Amino acid sequence: MFIVDTMLGTLAKWLRILGFDTIYEAGMDDDEILKLATEENRIIISRDRELCGRKPGSIFLETTDLDEQIARVLDFYSADKNKILSRCLECNCLLQKIACQYIEKASVPEDILQRYDEFWHCEKCNKYYWPGTHFENMKKKANVFLE
Ligand SMILES: [Zn+2]
Repeated sequence: MFIVDTMLGTLAKWLRILGFDTIYEAGMDDDEILKLATEENRIIISRDRELCGRKPGSIFLETTDLDEQIARVLDFYSADKNKILSRCLECNCLLQKIACQYIEKASVPEDILQRYDEFWHCEKCNKYYWPGTHFENMKKKANVFLE
């Protein structure tokens, strides 16, 4: 779906929260971004007008305001409410729902295991997600964008 320029890490995280398949790697240069965008048929999102000009369909962002950046992307591509928080925020992989008994005990604090019934797991970075305050706040904010 998207490949996000290195200057836009927070936007990349929010696009993942909204469920978009989003590549973002700090330190990629313009040529690497273009190459990957072409190979994987991804839309470039950047604040660099020149880079955007090199691939048709790129989304050029003038604003530095995160909310405005997200709104601008959503002007072009609508997000699916059902896909909010379906991806790992670190690596973009789809999360798998996991039952409590299969969670590696050392990975999640005991009180969290007691308190929540729903957990998601990223197999690539072995990170767990649960509907705690931080998670719920992200979900709330994501839903505001989709209203
Ligand atoms: Zn991950």
